[in-house]
Amino acid sequence: MQMSMKRGSFPGVLAGMTDDIDSVVLAGLVAQVDGPVVTPGDEGYAAETFTWNLGFLQTPAVSVGATSAADVRAAVRFAAAQGLPVAVVATGHGPMSAADGAVLINVRRLTGCVIDGQLRTATVGAATEWQDVVEAAAREGLAPLVGSSPNVGVVGYTIGGGVSPLLGRSYGYASDHVSSVEIVTPDGVLRTAAPDEEPGLFWAVRGGKSNFGVVTSMTFDLMPVTRFYGGGIYFSAEAAPAVLAEFRRLVALDDERLTVSFAFLRLPPLPFVPEPLRGRVTAHVRVAFLGAAAEGADLVAGLRSIGEILVDACAEMPFTAFASVHNDPVDPIPAYERTALLSSFPAQAAEALVEAAGAGVDTPVLMVEVRQLGGALAHEPAVSSAISHRDAPFCLLVATAGGPGEGDLLGAPLEAILQAMKPWDHGGTLVNFQKDSDAAPDRVATAYSPDTYKRLLDAKRQYDPLDLFRVNHTLSV
Ligand SMILES: Cc1cc2nc3c(=O)[nH]c(=O)nc-3n(C[C@H](O)[C@H](O)[C@H](O)COP(=O)(O)OP(=O)(O)OC[C@H]3O[C@@H](n4cnc5c(N)ncnc54)[C@H](O)[C@@H]3O)c2cc1C
Repeated sequence: MQMSMKRGSFPGVLAGMTDDIDSVVLAGLVAQVDGPVVTPGDEGYAAETFTWNLGFLQTPAVSVGATSAADVRAAVRFAAAQGLPVAVVATGHGPMSAADGAVLINVRRLTGCVIDGQLRTATVGAATEWQDVVEAAAREGLAPLVGSSPNVGVVGYTIGGGVSPLLGRSYGYASDHVSSVEIVTPDGVLRTAAPDEEPGLFWAVRGGKSNFGVVTSMTFDLMPVTRFYGGGIYFSAEAAPAVLAEFRRLVALDDERLTVSFAFLRLPPLPFVPEPLRGRVTAHVRVAFLGAAAEGADLVAGLRSIGEILVDACAEMPFTAFASVHNDPVDPIPAYERTALLSSFPAQAAEALVEAAGAGVDTPVLMVEVRQLGGALAHEPAVSSAISHRDAPFCLLVATAGGPGEGDLLGAPLEAILQAMKPWDHGGTLVNFQKDSDAAPDRVATAYSPDTYKRLLDAKRQYDPLDLFRVNHTLSV
């Protein structure tokens, strides 16, 4: 355990906070938690505040490395007593801001995954990563509604809905299948939220991100899936018009067992990129099909007939190989992103995408993805939640990489691609894909319908009247 006894090292940038934290007060916090407590200048501060997305250097006033729900409770009560905002970090895949002057509750140590094969459920800790759940569930012949990346945090993903590019169109949002959460609410109390226990909180936490407290444990359903047909097929970007035509044909089948996404990727000329893709602009189609392998092969036959294939990694595979479909980066990167939902993706939209991001376009944007939604994602779950915009059939995600603080610099080229797709903009966003540029309340609000947003504000006033949890997906209360 570490503790700084220094005074006067806190910037005091947020309304209501003191300009330093009294060493006696800090000692009181240290005495109550088992994990490390560090402040700026302490050895360990950089490691404790580290985020996977290197675009952010977190600068909280205090970082509390929680080892238990009791540590989380102590940290939340400390923040409330000091009038400091609370930020939560698990894996650091989705920070929205630098957590300046906040009490950062780092839940990385709260991992673990317990599978109940009879009930087909998983119970995870605050920072359990998807790969751990996928592997544990596979031993029981089951699979979770995992996202594209193996090392995104299960809880952070699920409290933002959680769009699985493998199972979402068959089963819905990950948050639709949550049966209960243990959560330390802003009053410092550990509560259980479930359909019949704190139902208002249960509604809000499934979509409202970290506005309602720190989730210390979550239980959700698993699906009887062991294999799928799918993977990625990479073409040279010149083939994009034909590839996009085939992508649109597959989308139009509207088969809930099938999910496709398309991405322009500008892969760097670096050794970790396989040779045929290194330094090239590629058109990448990602496929996941839950039917028989032969039927899956028939579905992608049209793609395979296009020619100019650089890599064809589409095959039947065990569910544990899910991450190979999108091949998301695993090592930390400084990522900057923009997102929008699209209300349609007609031939004109495909042309606009090619014009904005295809072969020959000079842009620093490394990935432009159009992801198919719909299917079961469009259905309301039995127990309603704060997820909105279920009608949107596509999500657009554009991303690039740069150093810390380069968000403004890289904003223009990212925005340019959103602008090119403006005619098909749905108007809403998915809260999970919002990034730093969405941190203001009016941007966060785009993730919700007006009714849902109003209900979220009501829940926020009830559970967080002091607006302690205001660092990331800030609601306007
Ligand atoms: C490479 C990559 C791939 C992705 N793929 C998908 C995808 O396929 N589908 C999808 O829906 N999303 C996807 N996302 C988005 C991802 O789900 C969100 O960024 C998610 O919030 C990440 O959670 P985390 O815990 O990993 O990250 P963190 O940065 O640690 O947390 C992100 C947010 O979640 C909150 N949070 C995390 N844990 C807790 C907790 N225990 N209690 C309360 N709040 C918590 C934090 O406060 C913060 O606001 C992807 C992101 C990346 C970087």
